[in-house]
Amino acid sequence: MVRLPTSRLAAEFEQLRRENFPLALVVDELARFVRDAFSRDISVTNIFRSPRLQQTVYGKGTKKISGPSPHLAWCAVDVASTSYAPEEVDAILAFGKRFDGHNRLPVIQAAGSRTIWLHEAGTLHPHFHIQYKGPPVHAV
Ligand SMILES: [Zn+2]
Repeated sequence: MVRLPTSRLAAEFEQLRRENFPLALVVDELARFVRDAFSRDISVTNIFRSPRLQQTVYGKGTKKISGPSPHLAWCAVDVASTSYAPEEVDAILAFGKRFDGHNRLPVIQAAGSRTIWLHEAGTLHPHFHIQYKGPPVHAV
C-alpha cells in the first residue's frame, strides 16, 4: 500500500490524482510491485512543493535536475528509501525505469532515467525521487 504519513500528504495525494493522474498511477503500481515482491509498503515523503519551499530545500545547490523542479508542477513524488535492502532498492529502481519509454520528462542524468532517481547525496533523508508526465500506464 501507499503510506501517506501526514494528513497534508494524504490531501496532496488526492489532489495529485486530479492534477497528474498518470503519476499517481505510477505510485500505485510501484506500491503493488513492492507488496508483491517484498511484502512491503512504500511511504511517500514529499509531493508538492511551492517555489518558496523549493528554495528552502534546494536553495544551497544540491539539486541536480536542470530547470524548475517537477515537484512545483505535480510531476514528482518522493518515496522513502532507507528501509529497503540493497537488492530491494535495485528492484525498485529497475521497476521505475520501465516507465521511461512513456515518460515525456527529460532524463535525469545522475540517474540514467526519466522516471526514478535514488537521491542520496547531500540530502538529509535519502529517497526515491519519482517523476512522470505522460499517458497512464498500467502494469508495465
Ligand atoms: Zn523529488
